[in-house]
Amino acid sequence: MFRISYIRVLLSALGTIVAFSCVQSPRDRVTRARFLMDTYCSITIPAAEHAQESLDAAFARMEAVERSFNVHTNTSPLYAFNKSGVPVTDSEIVTAMESVLDVCRDSGGAFDCTVFPIVDAWGFYGPHENTVPSAAHLAALRPLVNWRFIAVNRGRLVKLLPAVRVDLGGAAKGYAAHEAAKTLASSGVRSAIVDAGGNIYALGDNNGKPWRIGVQNPRDGSRIVGIIVASNTSVSTSGDYQRYFETNGVRYHHIIDPATGCPAQSGIASVTIMHPDGLYGDLLSTAVFVLGAERGGALIERMTNAGAVIVLTNGNVIVSSRMKPHYIPEKAR
Ligand code: AMP
Ligand code: MG
Repeated sequence: MFRISYIRVLLSALGTIVAFSCVQSPRDRVTRARFLMDTYCSITIPAAEHAQESLDAAFARMEAVERSFNVHTNTSPLYAFNKSGVPVTDSEIVTAMESVLDVCRDSGGAFDCTVFPIVDAWGFYGPHENTVPSAAHLAALRPLVNWRFIAVNRGRLVKLLPAVRVDLGGAAKGYAAHEAAKTLASSGVRSAIVDAGGNIYALGDNNGKPWRIGVQNPRDGSRIVGIIVASNTSVSTSGDYQRYFETNGVRYHHIIDPATGCPAQSGIASVTIMHPDGLYGDLLSTAVFVLGAERGGALIERMTNAGAVIVLTNGNVIVSSRMKPHYIPEKAR
């Protein structure tokens, strides 16, 4: 049986993320991995469907998304946008930004794509040292963080405040995984698992049966809390264990509450979202993490096509109504 057993995330000494999905890989399937978007990305397809050109095309698509959406390199129009306010006209980015801004609004700013300066101040970008910024530093940065300072206006992404900067770290990997899956499908591959650092897209089914995707126990990378059974869907996880540092016994993770400028302390350890669209799944996993189980759970229930598994820091697991038919808790297996 072809089953994703779990997603495990390791942290290097530098605090940068090294993530890979641990896929059981007997001879009936082929897995290829590359380091892209600051994380390990893998594609697994049944051996019968294996075609090197299809895999190459899918990875090329992910590389193209990285070039367009990586706000830290000058291959992206977002780099010039952040640096000097040059409006973005690239239609792929503008279309994605419309969805990003929808989730910024629908989450009441819990997802805020302008959180860049605060994530930067905590040292979560690139090879920087992680540091706990002073309260005064955070207070000076917080007025720069508000998604209403950017807008899509007549097909162009524009700034309404020159100092504002965009961060798509909470969205690009889910988008890239889904785009790679679309590329595989268009080259005739009917069945695949694409994993971009914990943002999975499950294409087609597994020999006529739905895919089984493990939800990692956020406090023990060798265990799962349950399995999501589904096909043709994204499954995206945001967790406080994916990228963090510790100072004086306190864990500071990479998901920032824009209201405080500090790592969100919402009582959530991880959120896994199932959504037909990879970009939305990635956006919502980050948003729900910040909102907490009550408000985040309510956001998911309001949506017509999203499901969530929320693991609290106390170990309790909350499963949303649309997730329930797809979820098997570990203890019930
Ligand atoms: P994810 O792992 O998908 O939850 O995304 C986390 C990444 O999104 C972080 O590394 C930051 O780059 C960015 N980020 C952190 N907090 C937020 C937030 N509240 N809204 C939007 N992006 C965020
Ligand atoms: Mg996300």
